Amino acid sequence: MKYYSTNLQAPRVGLKEAVVNSMAPDKGLYMPEYIPQMPTSFFEEIEGLCLQEIALRVAQALMGEDVEESVLRHIVYEALNFDFPIVKVAPKLYSLELFHGPTLAFKDVGARFMARLLRHFLRERQQVNVLVATSGDTGSAVANGFLGVEGIHVDVLYPRGRVSPIQEMQFATLGRNITAIAVEGTFDDCQAIVKLAFADRELNARFCLTSANSINLARLLPQCFYYFYAYAQMKCMGKTEDLVLCVPSGNFGNLAAGLIAHQMGLPIKRFVAANNSNDVFHQYLITGRFEPRASVRTMANAMDVGNPSNFARISSLFHQNLESIRNVISGYTVTDEDIMQTILDVYQRYHYLLDPHGACAFKAISESLKEGEHGVFLETAHPAKFTESMTAIIGKEPEIPERLKAFMNSVKKTVVLDNDFNSFKSYLLNR
Ligand SMILES: *Cc1c(COP(=O)(O)O)cnc(C)c1O
Repeated sequence: MKYYSTNLQAPRVGLKEAVVNSMAPDKGLYMPEYIPQMPTSFFEEIEGLCLQEIALRVAQALMGEDVEESVLRHIVYEALNFDFPIVKVAPKLYSLELFHGPTLAFKDVGARFMARLLRHFLRERQQVNVLVATSGDTGSAVANGFLGVEGIHVDVLYPRGRVSPIQEMQFATLGRNITAIAVEGTFDDCQAIVKLAFADRELNARFCLTSANSINLARLLPQCFYYFYAYAQMKCMGKTEDLVLCVPSGNFGNLAAGLIAHQMGLPIKRFVAANNSNDVFHQYLITGRFEPRASVRTMANAMDVGNPSNFARISSLFHQNLESIRNVISGYTVTDEDIMQTILDVYQRYHYLLDPHGACAFKAISESLKEGEHGVFLETAHPAKFTESMTAIIGKEPEIPERLKAFMNSVKKTVVLDNDFNSFKSYLLNR
């Protein structure tokens, strides 16, 4: 399988190059040059297969030409060592819980898979340095996904005092091959430092630098797996007619993965893309114009994205045809007020505690479902990650899972650096 750049100005590459380089030289995102089809027999027996076996078959269809089966099997079984259960929340509405991994958010899937695939591709090399700038969730998923992976060191750059305490504890307490670097600046400053590092000749001569940002194919492709697993679970319940999937979206990687699964033959009727007030994609569906703008802060902060990078991938999956996109995806915008109301309503009526991102999805699907359809929405984070908001909404603290308590009771180890590329550079060269 070759991968092309969505900007069409760069050569096609194999999976290894696409993963190691993250972004194409023309600044486009890599996409598979064709979408492989899963055989009908796979869907006939899917409900009898476990999560890892489903994931392995999908992984083989996508990556089987580039990675041997035994290696893929190992990566899949190690990366997906937690479950994605479906829970019935309300009549015809089901929650696909993607938050049972180490950091209690769905980004664990891509991060864990990428760490192992990168390790495989770079096996002859001595040491790789992964640089990641984060405003919170990406740093914790990547740090935990790469924790203890031999030969890879991860530097997480984050704006000092500007990530939530829980998020900070999830990447700053790990130690081992993970270094947390608190920059006296904003998230954009952190990102700028990382970009300068990739462009710096001296650093690149000395280190093998790579990025684990969310546009990397190795993080995107494994997100296809749980859509198939969701279908398998719905099939066990005898509910596969007119399935509608709702995805709470920010950078739109998760939805792009769902659409790839759909084009591989997954029998889903349609998708709903839930936006918070950063609704550039919903506006695009209405007006036909994609107009990025500065993001605004909302309660569902992992979806505060004003220029969703995976739009290019979605557009290319549909050959830039707006009508075909509209036939498969509908949009919905959820305000902070709706988020709070939805969390409270669902908690009181159905005794299910949504997190702010899942609440966007629940609201969007419950307003969009038509007669005869069944809705599955993606619950992307555990509500306990948002203790303050949750307490304000439901009037008491959500139960904190043991895994989260363990982070909160550990000791934070961070390196504090000035907001300046040269401080970062000399830190790397001298440590
Ligand atoms: C990253 C994230 C999202 C948005 O996913 P995209 O793939 O960027 O659209 C939604 N919910 C949570 C909890 C996230 O961390």
